[in-house]
Amino acid sequence: MNLTNPNEIKALLAEYGFRFSKSMGQNFLIAPWVPGCIAGEAGLTEEDGVLEIGPGIGALTVELCERAGKVLSVELDKRLEPILRMTLAGRENSAVVFGDALKSDLPALCREHLGERPWKVCANLPYNVTTPLLTAFLESGCFESITVMIQKEVAERICAAPGTGEYGSFTVLVNWYAQPSRLFDVTPDCFLPQPKVTSTVIRLARRKAPPARVDDEKFFFRVVRAAFNQRRKALPNALAAGLPTLEREQVRGALTRLGLPADIRGERLSVEQFAQFSNELLAR
Ligand code: SAM
Repeated sequence: MNLTNPNEIKALLAEYGFRFSKSMGQNFLIAPWVPGCIAGEAGLTEEDGVLEIGPGIGALTVELCERAGKVLSVELDKRLEPILRMTLAGRENSAVVFGDALKSDLPALCREHLGERPWKVCANLPYNVTTPLLTAFLESGCFESITVMIQKEVAERICAAPGTGEYGSFTVLVNWYAQPSRLFDVTPDCFLPQPKVTSTVIRLARRKAPPARVDDEKFFFRVVRAAFNQRRKALPNALAAGLPTLEREQVRGALTRLGLPADIRGERLSVEQFAQFSNELLAR
């Protein structure tokens, strides 16, 4: 059957008495060109194992199965089990696990189902949990690349330049672990039901090493979070609120030694400057 034909999908869902759940971010693809394009951008080969979060009725899953050695899909909604059993019948390289991806040990599941192959993520992510899922993929360090459809606004935050309104702690986190590329936009009419916002497909390529040297990675991320929690404040004040063990003078001193003005806001610092700044704070 054609998994991106709206009439066929509606008939299939009606047959199983399925109703879309907003809280599970269920917007299924109904534009025939989109699943193939997303899977194509993931750069998959027979050697690869793919992790997909949220297969829905399997429109993207079948495209992944065509290209990769093995595909593991994790789906929260157990009501989709009989439908997926039907739509993925005969796909020998597909495995579906039911559960909450946020509460699952994803590396352990990948080890079990994808084995020794290189692992990549490819998915049309549920929008309500995009940020924690991307954070989990990146922090695990297990995935060579992550090719996902997400809300356009989140893609803009990921690719934002310092000094812009979209630049924030999530930008720094993603760019610490990966090099992002924005690939293409997908309009709301490509989904059933239609979401309110435009979507964007992005690819995050894992970095071999972080973009800068830091003496203490945990402290670096605490500095970044503190800077953006009070993003309208100058760094000495923002850090006084978020990292109270630091003296304002200590922060001003670190900025001066780096040749930065004492009233600069964190949103002006590049990832590399945040790294230098956190090292300088630790040095004294
Ligand atoms: N891949 C399908 C497509 O492109 O048509 C469906 C994508 S839909 C945007 C998101 C899917 O993620 C839904 O099937 C939803 O049930 C599932 N989902 C939502 N939250 C989840 C979670 N925490 N863990 C695993 N799957 C989840």
